[in-house]
Amino acid sequence: MHERNIAEQSTPFWWEAAPVKPLPQQSLAKELDVLIVGAGYAGLAAGLVLARAGRSVAAFDAMSPGEGASSRNGGITSGSIRPDHATLSRRFGEKKALAIEAEGKLAREFLYDFIEVERLDCDFQLTGLFRGAIGHEQYESMARSAEALAKRLGIESYAVPHTEQRHYIGTDFYRGGTVRMDIGGLNPAKLHAELLRVALAAGVTVHSNTSVSSIARDGSGFRVTTVAGTVQARQVLVCTNGYTDGATPYLRRRLVPVRSRIIATEELAPEMMARLMPKRMMMGEGLQLGFYYRPSPDGRRILLGGRDSSRVGDPAAPTLRLHKGLVTRFPELENVRLSHSWFGNVAMNRDMLPRIFEKDGVLYATGFCGSGVVWAPWVGTRAAHKLLRSSEHPCSAFDFRPPAFIPLYRGNPWFMPAVIQGYGMQDRIAMWRASR
Ligand SMILES: Cc1cc2nc3c(=O)[nH]c(=O)nc-3n(C[C@H](O)[C@H](O)[C@H](O)COP(=O)(O)OP(=O)(O)OC[C@H]3O[C@@H](n4cnc5c(N)ncnc54)[C@H](O)[C@@H]3O)c2cc1C
Repeated sequence: MHERNIAEQSTPFWWEAAPVKPLPQQSLAKELDVLIVGAGYAGLAAGLVLARAGRSVAAFDAMSPGEGASSRNGGITSGSIRPDHATLSRRFGEKKALAIEAEGKLAREFLYDFIEVERLDCDFQLTGLFRGAIGHEQYESMARSAEALAKRLGIESYAVPHTEQRHYIGTDFYRGGTVRMDIGGLNPAKLHAELLRVALAAGVTVHSNTSVSSIARDGSGFRVTTVAGTVQARQVLVCTNGYTDGATPYLRRRLVPVRSRIIATEELAPEMMARLMPKRMMMGEGLQLGFYYRPSPDGRRILLGGRDSSRVGDPAAPTLRLHKGLVTRFPELENVRLSHSWFGNVAMNRDMLPRIFEKDGVLYATGFCGSGVVWAPWVGTRAAHKLLRSSEHPCSAFDFRPPAFIPLYRGNPWFMPAVIQGYGMQDRIAMWRASR
């Protein structure tokens, strides 16, 4: 790749339509019914429910609201569960496995209804998602899963053989794939800005650039220390996901922040876009370190994301890796310029499932494992109903024991290079087997 292809901007493409900025300073309440740490999708969705139920509620964010993953993500409404059905059944039993999978469907429908009912202007389009298969063996297995998904949950999903692939995507990189029609795309920064709008209108106080440094039990409530002063809160909800810091050491030992990066191309010719992404679907693939990609909402650019294993400085290497991934899938983009390259943190845990859990009276709603556009608003909302002790709303399948702690880990993910190398090796083996 020529030097000129390194992206011009290191801020999210999404911020052009919905800039992320601090809110005017708010005075600090001495007492609150509920204090929320983190004002991303999860914190704001929870705040909205609580404020509408009449609680005094404030969300504190160490950065500008949305500056975490909620305005940086790919905007794909995946709501995926990483472990497959067999793994979930083995770990939690068949009943729980089915409940977890069914909740993915509910959570997606909840988001789509929420966007419609609250009239959130976020460029949402229910386009469907194409997932490319690496080799024939993987295609057969993905085709079986698509059929099972349709049978089990009634989701429109089907296999696309290699001979029909170009109706969906302009590449021969895959050996067929599958489509599911319950997933679409939106502008994530617009979604966050709109969620912020309705949360503020409902009476949630949002403090920008006000980090929480500790949460201590105090009688029947909590004394929460922030950079702006101390607040007494009856209840505390933590929604910090990939940005979890030393304020919540218990959570920090259970969540691993992982960088994810996205590149955006310059505007492409309409004929080229029609050839490469004829149905304007969201795209994924069957590799451990695979890429996710999509057209921009106006259909003029391609955005492609993947893991970024660099922890420091120079953004060039991970950007070059993503560019190589783009060109491997679409060789005709070799000389196309990149307009943006940016990163954010997702949060993984040991069993790769989102969570609502309570520890020492503090409630946590977090751990979205790279799929929070659907999960964070849903889990935040469920957590709020739990705080309200509302019996109308059924318990979430994700409301159970805390994620397991990670031995020898206190916030510095020293083991990630080895984990990424291991995944890379699995992918190389999969590619080699597919090429035989
Ligand atoms: C590059 C990228 C691409 C992604 N693509 C997709 C996708 O296409 N589809 C999908 O479903 N998901 C995707 N995700 C994941 C998704 O964005 C997240 O799961 C989701 O936004 C999490 O929302 P949240 O509210 O839990 O956390 P965040 O939005 O990350 O917010 C957490 C907030 O907590 C604040 N905070 C942390 N500690 C403190 C403290 N001590 N005091 C005060 N505030 C604190 C932070 O400042 C931050 O703003 C992607 C993520 C990234 C980074």
